[in-house]
Amino acid sequence: MQLAGINTRNLANGLYIVNNYPKYLASQYFSTEKIKELQLRKLKFILQTAINEVPFYKTLNLKIDFNNFSEIELQKFPIVTKAIIRENYNSFISEKYVNKKLQYKSTSGSSGQPFKVPKCYYSDGIEQCMMFRAWSMNPAFKYSFHKPCIVLRSFSPKVGEPPFKVDKILNYWYLSPFDINQKNLGTYVQFIKKSKAQLLRGYPSSIYILTLLLKENNIRLPQIKTLFTSSENLLPHYKKVIQEYWQIPLIDWYGQNERTVTVQICEYGNYHNNDEYGIVELDENNQIIATSLNNNIMPLIRYATNDIAIPAKNKTCSCKRGLSIPFAGIDGRADDLLIKDDNTIIATVNIYNAMEKFPDVKQFKIIQQTDKSIHLFLSENTKLSQEYICNIEKELKQRLGNVLITSKVVNEIERNKNTEKIKSIESLIKL
Ligand SMILES: [Zn+2]
Repeated sequence: MQLAGINTRNLANGLYIVNNYPKYLASQYFSTEKIKELQLRKLKFILQTAINEVPFYKTLNLKIDFNNFSEIELQKFPIVTKAIIRENYNSFISEKYVNKKLQYKSTSGSSGQPFKVPKCYYSDGIEQCMMFRAWSMNPAFKYSFHKPCIVLRSFSPKVGEPPFKVDKILNYWYLSPFDINQKNLGTYVQFIKKSKAQLLRGYPSSIYILTLLLKENNIRLPQIKTLFTSSENLLPHYKKVIQEYWQIPLIDWYGQNERTVTVQICEYGNYHNNDEYGIVELDENNQIIATSLNNNIMPLIRYATNDIAIPAKNKTCSCKRGLSIPFAGIDGRADDLLIKDDNTIIATVNIYNAMEKFPDVKQFKIIQQTDKSIHLFLSENTKLSQEYICNIEKELKQRLGNVLITSKVVNEIERNKNTEKIKSIESLIKL
């Protein structure tokens, strides 16, 4: 609905941020018990909505005890996959919203099949509060609306356009992730200085490439207080290079388009779940099973995300936040696992660990073909000798067995033009 030219839903979400962001800033430091209490209240509402209003759950006839409610009740719900939802799409939508005009979050998905989830009314406002809170996890820099930030993502200039632009309303200073090179470095540095931004956001790969260039040219940017990465896997060797150079908090964020759970690293390097937003479980394969605490239109309960986590050994953190620690990191997508010559499935973390041993490699991309052979693409920090490449192949064969590896040195590992992202490991084998 438009009111005097203003979209009322956007306005309501803007007001939601103003009213609720301070509350979210406070609740991260609540005691674990108090956060659990808050989470249980929201969980109960969502599960009641599912049982009373959502045809898929109504027909399951689940016996949920809402009188003596605890999180154990969640376990009575089945795990649902994207395929199950796709097949029964309308029966996952609350009867209250049938035939209503809904707004959606869409995802193309790695399978290429589009998938969309209706957004609850305040979805954008809630998402933004979580983002702002994550951007503020460094005690030395608190983000608030309209503070400038550099955005090294979500911008792909057309031919002939400069590799930068400014969104004055949001005070976002965009730099193209496609044009980070020696030729543009001066322009990028000047633009960053002019913005006076203290927050630098980008894909792990775009911040990594910028860092390499700054290092090579011995340029420091002390104005930047916080680095924020999201949307790609933060590879160990990216993280190491970035942290060594900047020596400031690097906040990495995990979330999905379906908006079920969001998780970020705090200034002490631990991943914290936003417990007011969603619940994380790990299944026996360490796949993230996510429950949204906000979506009352299409409750996503125990939703199989296809993302594989690295389990956390340490569940406490010195930052004093009461937010739980659900995992130690993200390993990759469940459907991007590699297959060994004897058909054993290999978690991609093994490959990342192997590649960490080769600092002369700037970036890599591995594509496993349907016959299990590997196409390896390498860009170089320093010239890669044949012997060096042979050693990389040997390391990979140690993990993947006797598969054929074809290596090629390229100028740069290209970003996907549609997603803007770089996917380091891909498999064409569909399990
Ligand atoms: Zn922490």
